[in-house]
Amino acid sequence: MNSEIYSGFIRLHILYHASKEPIFGLGIIEELKSHGYNLSPGTLYPILHKMEDVGYLKSEKKQVGKKIRRLYEITPGGVEALHDARMKIKELFRELIEEE
Ligand SMILES: [Zn+2]
Repeated sequence: MNSEIYSGFIRLHILYHASKEPIFGLGIIEELKSHGYNLSPGTLYPILHKMEDVGYLKSEKKQVGKKIRRLYEITPGGVEALHDARMKIKELFRELIEEE
């Protein structure tokens, strides 16, 4: 996997999905798998922790059915980061896709 390039895409998937509803590790691993990114929990969890440390996500342990899960929600800082990234992606999209 081209992790040097894809690491930003993965973070944007995480931010985007967290902006729609609270996410949890294994759920996001499945979601990323559907896009062809195969991440182990050992790779994903440090990413989630880092995104929480920098203030894009906040997490809380919650009972979901019979399981206790750590759910991650987007913060106002995360919403802003996602918004800014969306502008950058539009620019990149224009160059990479539309100018081809
Ligand atoms: Zn996604």
